[in-house]
Amino acid sequence: MNPDEDAAIDPCAVASAMARSSPARIDAVEHARTNARAVVGELADVNADIDEEGWLAGAERRPSPSQDARPPGTQIDLLVIHNISLPPGEFSGDWIDDLFLDRLDPAAHPYFREIAGLRVSAHLLIRRNGRLLQYVPFEQRAWHAGVSRFAERERCNDFSIGIELEGTDDIPFTDAQYARLVQCTRQILRRYPGITEDRIAGHAEIAPGRKTDPGPAFDWNRYRRSMRAEGRAVALDPLQE
Ligand SMILES: [Zn+2]
Repeated sequence: MNPDEDAAIDPCAVASAMARSSPARIDAVEHARTNARAVVGELADVNADIDEEGWLAGAERRPSPSQDARPPGTQIDLLVIHNISLPPGEFSGDWIDDLFLDRLDPAAHPYFREIAGLRVSAHLLIRRNGRLLQYVPFEQRAWHAGVSRFAERERCNDFSIGIELEGTDDIPFTDAQYARLVQCTRQILRRYPGITEDRIAGHAEIAPGRKTDPGPAFDWNRYRRSMRAEGRAVALDPLQE
């Protein structure tokens, strides 16, 4: 459970080379243009997944009111994995949506009375069928970690991205969830290279004694193995696991 209070290309170089072009220089200019196109293409590919604000392509956008700005100059260099289900242990309905959008009806379930009014969110939620929802763009601070510490640094919300898997500590997560998690982790790591593999942590690790998620049901070995596998096909197709 999550609830918590709390090299650029210089186009001028190509243009000026073209302006000076003479027959002897044609090859060099063409070479430069081809290289520039290749690099621009690569950058476009890297940036296509995640826009400037940090919205992930392919995720359903649900802007949460429970977010704010990160401290100025913060480098995003931690990924936190959680699980959540509402009511606990149930995987139907859109109650997590309601919680993250600060509109959970306290009368809808006895448990909701305890947590309605908590201002919480995560950047991403991966539902049981692999559906991906985004509540907070990555450049903003989501309220997912609460009181927490990673490598002697407190307030992990400041510098982390939080991903919630719909689930519980003890029920296995689905193939579709692993596939989606690996896919979006790769996209996030390409965009935020400060998040290295050893800077991916469970909520329990950064809030020991207070949190247990994602719990023993989460297969870290499977996740890390898929992350290291070459090529996207492995990540996207859970049958390849
Ligand atoms: Zn959590």
